[in-house]
Amino acid sequence: MAASWTRRIGVRMAIWHAAILVVFMVVFLAGTAAILFWQMRAQLRHYAIQDVETVEGLVSFSPKAGLRVREDYHNHPESKRVLERFLEIRTLDGSVLYRNARLGTMTLGGIPEAAEGVDGYSVRSGRLENGIPVTIVSRRHSVDGQPTIIRLAYSEEAIRHATAELLGAAALFLPVMVAAALVLSLRLSRAALAPISDITRQAREITSSSLQQRLPVTGTGDEIDQLAAVFNAVLFRLDASFSELRRFSGDASHELRTPLAVVRTMGEVALQRESSAAEYRELVSRMLEELGRLSQLLEQLLLVSQADEGMVALHRTTIAVGPLIRDAATLLEPLAEEKGQHMDVTIECDANLSIDPVFIRQAIINILHNAIKFAPGNSRIAVEVSRERERELAICITDAGPGIAPEHLSRVFDRFFRCDNGRGRKDGGCGLGLAISAWAVRAHGGTIAVESALGQGSTFRIVLPIP
Ligand code: ADP
Repeated sequence: MAASWTRRIGVRMAIWHAAILVVFMVVFLAGTAAILFWQMRAQLRHYAIQDVETVEGLVSFSPKAGLRVREDYHNHPESKRVLERFLEIRTLDGSVLYRNARLGTMTLGGIPEAAEGVDGYSVRSGRLENGIPVTIVSRRHSVDGQPTIIRLAYSEEAIRHATAELLGAAALFLPVMVAAALVLSLRLSRAALAPISDITRQAREITSSSLQQRLPVTGTGDEIDQLAAVFNAVLFRLDASFSELRRFSGDASHELRTPLAVVRTMGEVALQRESSAAEYRELVSRMLEELGRLSQLLEQLLLVSQADEGMVALHRTTIAVGPLIRDAATLLEPLAEEKGQHMDVTIECDANLSIDPVFIRQAIINILHNAIKFAPGNSRIAVEVSRERERELAICITDAGPGIAPEHLSRVFDRFFRCDNGRGRKDGGCGLGLAISAWAVRAHGGTIAVESALGQGSTFRIVLPIP
């Protein structure tokens, strides 16, 4: 199902880019405009202060005509630009002595405050009655001995206008910039994410029957390459697990088919002809024997598959290993005796182990049973228990059987594996015994290994940790 466009990473990234750009640009422009405004206002105040000094020179007082100001701003070099001065002169008790024509009936403040214009200049911003924003500079000045306060103001309209123009131009420019950034980052993110889309498409085509396929790794070592490599590693493991599963179910059904076919044939043959009661009894007991083998096989299969899923819980107890080994040997003694074999059990070290006795006993029985099965009559089977290292115990089972070919040594612990010496099938083995032994030993944190050469017997060595 195609993702809606807002759910695409590329689109979301582009929108985020554009949003971040907008925020940065707004902050940047607002900052620039504020700095510009402050600088222009500082300049304006500077002019106003200079102008107050000029005005001081223009003010005169005569008892007849009173206070007179010689306005001169037409001659001022800056007059064309900003020096549209508003001027007001008052006595300290607030009586208006003079207002220039520009100020008219408006005022630059009422009765002077105590500190206004004292020690230099007082500078502030305000508004005239007609709403014009102004910078006002006040200064105490004595005109022919009479203390006055001169207030001079410049309109801030021009600098506010300049700032507004800057912001207006930016506001027009911003959407264009944002649109361009959106388009560019959309393209960039699309280009950057294109390999991911390729990987998605190819991964979608991989099914359980095509797990051998691999995603392309370009070798750049970038994140996408790493993703493809990780994906390939997962595919590799999946492929291996699927093959293992297929092999397991194939082998399992093969192993189950044979005893089932035997039982079925026995039944069919028995039905085809009349037999005596003794013959039927004999047949039923052979059928039961075959069914017993079948149920043993099923149990082993179940154990192996549960072990695979980690579903077999170990119930550990602390137990002496000597009696456990003797017990297993005693169980199989009759089989060995039947073949005239001699079983030697030597317990050099009888340590206590923390193990699940059921599984360790089973592991030893499987190996011992193989030894009896494969070794010739009248041969010796040795079971030795010794201390391996400080905290390890070794159990060695040695037989004088046909041995195992070097090329098979690494596979004897694999499931369903039987060597060509394979009397296993004939003796009812299905190649699961050693796999179960290996699982049990490894689940206890131990190791299992075999040393063998064709014609020279075999030694199976289990090493278990001593707690
Ligand atoms: P099986 O149930 O067939 O014996 P195992 O997993 O116990 O299966 O053994 C796998 C194969 O390893 C056997 O079929 C046999 O070929 C070989 N093998 C195991 N133990 C011995 C041994 N003591 N001597 C020679 N070959 C052995």
